[in-house]
Amino acid sequence: MAEDTIFHRIMRREIPADVVYEDEDIIAFRNVAPQAPVHVLFVPKKTIRGLDAAAEEDAALLGRLALAAAAYARREGFADKGYRVVMNCNEDGGQTVFQMHLHLLAGAPLGRFGAA
Ligand code: AMP
Repeated sequence: MAEDTIFHRIMRREIPADVVYEDEDIIAFRNVAPQAPVHVLFVPKKTIRGLDAAAEEDAALLGRLALAAAAYARREGFADKGYRVVMNCNEDGGQTVFQMHLHLLAGAPLGRFGAA
């Protein structure tokens, strides 16, 4: 299937993942190669190649993805300390898995990003 990715296989439970959150529309699991002490990927169950492929009808889903990450951060107790969310898009953005996902990174100072 052209749209099939490793994240689809995780959603179908064909390969294991450390799932930390799931609802009707979203699954979240720990990154197998974490870039921070906490590194969780929030993935919509709807097949969307990446942010560039998201449509107006996906606006609510995108919002829910971000809110699910924020709720997880509050539940896990690191929201006040802080965290970063990142979405890589296409080649220059460093995207390697072509099913849209939000990275949630936390657990240590992450360095300056987007500021001089
Ligand atoms: P991106 O580069 O933004 O497309 O992010 C893809 C991420 O998926 C990378 O950070 C990988 O470490 C992560 N990843 C790849 N395969 C798996 C897997 N089987 N389980 C959890 N995370 C994975």
